[in-house]
Amino acid sequence: MSYSYEAPVSQSLFDRASQVTPGGVNSPVRAFRAVGGTPRFMVSGTGPYLTDADGREYVDLVCSWGPMILGHAHPEVIAAVQDAVARGTSFGTPGEGEVALAEEIVARVAPVEQVRLVSSGTEATMSAIRLARGYTGRSKVIKFAGCYHGHVDALLAAAGSGVATLGLPDTPGVTGAQAGDTIVLPYNDLEAVQEAFHRHPGEIACVITEASPGNMGVVPPRPGFNQGLKDACAKNGALYISDEVMTGFRTSKAGWYGVDGVAPDLMTFGKVMGGGFPAAAFGGRADVMAHLAPAGPVYQAGTLSGNPVATAAGLAQLRLLDDAAYARVDAVSREIQGLVTDALTKEGVAHRLQNASNMFSVFFADREVRDYEDAKRQESFRFTAFFHSMLAQGVYLPPSAFESWFVSAAHDERAVERVAAALPAAARAAAEATEGAA
Ligand code: PLP
Repeated sequence: MSYSYEAPVSQSLFDRASQVTPGGVNSPVRAFRAVGGTPRFMVSGTGPYLTDADGREYVDLVCSWGPMILGHAHPEVIAAVQDAVARGTSFGTPGEGEVALAEEIVARVAPVEQVRLVSSGTEATMSAIRLARGYTGRSKVIKFAGCYHGHVDALLAAAGSGVATLGLPDTPGVTGAQAGDTIVLPYNDLEAVQEAFHRHPGEIACVITEASPGNMGVVPPRPGFNQGLKDACAKNGALYISDEVMTGFRTSKAGWYGVDGVAPDLMTFGKVMGGGFPAAAFGGRADVMAHLAPAGPVYQAGTLSGNPVATAAGLAQLRLLDDAAYARVDAVSREIQGLVTDALTKEGVAHRLQNASNMFSVFFADREVRDYEDAKRQESFRFTAFFHSMLAQGVYLPPSAFESWFVSAAHDERAVERVAAALPAAARAAAEATEGAA
């Protein structure tokens, strides 16, 4: 199949980019490798819309992979950033903005008694793992296949997100020693967790899990799964780390913790809390966090950690995220989920629409997806056809069947109507798609 619509300016930018940057992009899933075609170079965003370099406008259902929960260029976030920028961009000293952002996080998420700010979700999970190892004096880490925790060496085994999208089995550059202490288990399988603790008594430092996974598509925990992880960790002297980089401050005011109420020992955050800037965090029990330098011996640091512009953006965004904002995001998410299901059902396309609060994705599969093996069994060639039809009609979806879709409080009726208008043709394209035709 060839995609007939043209994007000449994006194409020439991509050609230029490919000369100077591997694969033409600075993060792999942006490259459209899984779906084919030319990645769109965006030049601006307003509310629920993005405009590309060819002047085409799209309803954005990616929202920068989660952060833009208030939509693009929210006037109050922009004003906070402009105000901060005018006072200087980095001091390398403590500042009040960092304190205020940390206080906001601690106030929202009860299990977080203390928090350390960093610049990316990857740094947050990497640091949380180091802290867990330093605190317990143990080496091994349990992670789940299909969960993505950033590109931390030890956590890339059987990872979701771009690793899943590109179908990479393992990543060259990660040594056996770095991966050797990682135990990868099937998601939603508590028995496998108990068995791993049984096989490695006194060796497991922590279990890290996405609070509700969105990096193999949306695969929520089965009832009792997160509680079971917490109990198994408590029983065996390990820490339970809930990665809320994606779900944090998105799936509710207190993230996924606000949905299931299972209190982790450590948590990681990113995306929404940065308001579109590089800000992330990890935090949790004060007695564990006390092991972090300079209070304790586990070293962790960052030149731009708690950057004043990033913290101003994050704080402005979080302060705008009240109950009404979450009600709006949830409502628009439900509406779009319903429209997608209706359109696919009408065309007789086997699919599963799965959601975790306002995060959702479509699997072209005929039964529930509970783990990464299920997710891989879907007919992703149908997603490719669906994706390109939506793109041609001005709706920007994640360019992968293994990613969550995101909406914002700025997605209004006009934006939803544009999605609704595009869906019938996209559903037809999915119905007519054949394997290997892309
Ligand atoms: N953890 C989860 C659950 C994520 O979804 C991601 C990124 O998508 C990360 C960690 C890594 O965050 P970052 O891309 O900011 O390094």
